[in-house]
Amino acid sequence: MFQAVFSAAIDCVFPHICAGCGLSGTPLCVSCVQNLPPARQPAVRRPQTIAVYDYRSGITRAAIHALKYRRNTELIRLFARILAPYIARQPFEAPVLIPIPPHRKRRLARGWSQTHRLARELERQTGVPRRSDILYRTRPVKAQAGLAHAERRKNVADSFKARFRSEVARGNLILVDDVTTTGATLREAYAALQGAGYKHIRAITIAH
Ligand SMILES: [Zn+2]
Repeated sequence: MFQAVFSAAIDCVFPHICAGCGLSGTPLCVSCVQNLPPARQPAVRRPQTIAVYDYRSGITRAAIHALKYRRNTELIRLFARILAPYIARQPFEAPVLIPIPPHRKRRLARGWSQTHRLARELERQTGVPRRSDILYRTRPVKAQAGLAHAERRKNVADSFKARFRSEVARGNLILVDDVTTTGATLREAYAALQGAGYKHIRAITIAH
């Protein structure tokens, strides 16, 4: 109930307008989606990462910003529809989606995790199961935005821990994040998962 009222309030403050061009009635209009430039590949080598859009584009940035701060579920659904074929197309055996967890403090502050929502929607659309009980944050990290490259790396070093779950260990883990810039977060998550005994780890993000 409270959640519904809160969402309605957010919708009033941020009515559905296209993040790219301001057209009303849609979180991102068809023509803006078509104009999103593709990301350079591979976005990150380890883990091997598929990123769909180029984060340097203003429209991409605006859309990701809306995803993070506006609790925009329509936009989550839209991006999941775009990412879903990339997951379906991979010859992954027993794939499992692993959302990159936000730090607890930041999650509480915002009460919303776009990566969990994205993974949940991908699970719904592709049938690939999602597990949130494998990868955890170990300590607070500062927001990555505004930190220099070396600082970013130090900021996320050893910031994850992973639990070994025998029932998924033989499958392919697919890390899900909304955006990767230097790849530092994905690399740390990858290291933690490898350390826990997982062998097949890849990642997918909306933008790079
Ligand atoms: Zn537009």
